[in-house]
Amino acid sequence: MGVHILSGELNGSTTEAACLVDSVTGVAFGPVFDTHDGAQAFLEWLPGDARALSPGDLAQQIAEWAALPTCSDCEDKVSAVSAKRCDRCADNRHRDAEIARSLR
Ligand SMILES: [Zn+2]
Repeated sequence: MGVHILSGELNGSTTEAACLVDSVTGVAFGPVFDTHDGAQAFLEWLPGDARALSPGDLAQQIAEWAALPTCSDCEDKVSAVSAKRCDRCADNRHRDAEIARSLR
């Protein structure tokens, strides 16, 4: 149970599109995303359940997410406007640096 992502080609073209689906009711909701990965990244970024938001609030959250800069390493959205890397890549770099130090 949760939010699923329905993705495919728009109008049978090569243009990818994806939307959110309530797995309980089977009803699609919210704006259409450009890619499956984009919809997935948005759901991972969103702190709560997308189904709990009104259509207007969901559209606003998507706009806020879309306005965030992307990570310089993996192109995921970063959590803060001032950050250069997403939390995962920042953690990876921190861990890689610690491993490199421990091997010296
Ligand atoms: Zn990253």
